[in-house]
Amino acid sequence: MECAFCTSKLDHCHGTLVVHPDHGFAECTDPSCTDLDRVRHGLIIDCHTLDADCACTGAAKPLLRQAS
Ligand SMILES: [Zn+2]
Ligand SMILES: [Zn+2]
Ligand SMILES: [Zn+2]
Repeated sequence: MECAFCTSKLDHCHGTLVVHPDHGFAECTDPSCTDLDRVRHGLIIDCHTLDADCACTGAAKPLLRQAS
Protein backbone atom coordinates (compact mmCIF):
# COMPACT_ATOMS: atom_id res chain seq x y z
CA MET A 1 0.00 0.00 0.00
CA GLU A 2 1.42 3.29 -1.10
CA CYS A 3 0.35 6.70 0.04
CA ALA A 4 1.64 10.24 -0.03
CA PHE A 5 3.69 9.58 3.11
CA CYS A 6 5.28 6.48 1.59
CA THR A 7 6.54 8.34 -1.42
CA SER A 8 7.93 11.09 0.76
CA LYS A 9 9.58 8.55 3.10
CA LEU A 10 8.10 10.16 6.17
CA ASP A 11 7.52 8.04 9.25
CA HIS A 12 3.84 7.16 9.28
CA CYS A 13 1.28 4.45 9.93
CA HIS A 14 -1.30 2.81 7.68
CA GLY A 15 -3.53 1.85 10.58
CA THR A 16 -6.52 3.86 11.69
CA LEU A 17 -6.00 5.98 14.75
CA VAL A 18 -8.99 5.63 17.05
CA VAL A 19 -9.31 8.62 19.33
CA HIS A 20 -11.24 8.47 22.59
CA PRO A 21 -12.12 12.13 23.05
CA ASP A 22 -13.67 11.70 26.47
CA HIS A 23 -10.67 9.84 27.82
CA GLY A 24 -8.01 11.87 26.10
CA PHE A 25 -6.14 8.92 24.64
CA ALA A 26 -5.89 7.13 21.32
CA GLU A 27 -5.17 3.68 19.97
CA CYS A 28 -4.27 2.31 16.57
CA THR A 29 -5.78 -0.56 14.59
CA ASP A 30 -2.28 -1.57 13.54
CA PRO A 31 -0.77 -3.68 16.35
CA SER A 32 2.73 -2.85 15.13
CA CYS A 33 2.10 0.86 15.43
CA THR A 34 4.91 2.44 17.40
CA ASP A 35 3.70 5.98 17.87
CA LEU A 36 0.14 7.19 18.31
CA ASP A 37 0.91 10.69 17.20
CA ARG A 38 -1.92 12.00 15.01
CA VAL A 39 0.47 13.40 12.43
CA ARG A 40 1.63 9.86 11.55
CA HIS A 41 -1.88 8.75 10.64
CA GLY A 42 -3.86 9.47 7.50
CA LEU A 43 -6.99 7.93 8.98
CA ILE A 44 -8.29 9.25 12.28
CA ILE A 45 -11.74 8.45 13.63
CA ASP A 46 -13.24 8.81 17.02
CA CYS A 47 -14.20 5.74 19.01
CA HIS A 48 -17.89 6.54 18.94
CA THR A 49 -17.84 5.94 15.20
CA LEU A 50 -16.08 2.61 15.52
CA ASP A 51 -17.66 1.24 18.66
CA ALA A 52 -20.85 2.69 20.12
CA ASP A 53 -20.25 0.67 23.27
CA CYS A 54 -16.92 2.26 24.10
CA ALA A 55 -16.80 3.46 27.69
CA CYS A 56 -16.35 6.98 26.37
CA THR A 57 -19.97 6.98 25.23
CA GLY A 58 -21.03 6.95 28.86
CA ALA A 59 -20.72 10.72 28.87
CA ALA A 60 -22.77 11.11 25.70
CA LYS A 61 -25.43 8.51 26.47
CA PRO A 62 -25.73 8.40 30.27
CA LEU A 63 -29.05 6.54 30.17
CA LEU A 64 -27.41 3.55 28.49
CA ARG A 65 -24.44 3.42 30.82
CA GLN A 66 -24.01 0.20 32.72
CA ALA A 67 -23.07 0.39 36.39
CA SER A 68 -19.60 -1.07 36.35
ZN1 LIG B 1 2.16 4.98 3.39
ZN1 LIG C 1 -13.66 5.65 23.58
ZN1 LIG D 1 -0.80 3.64 13.88
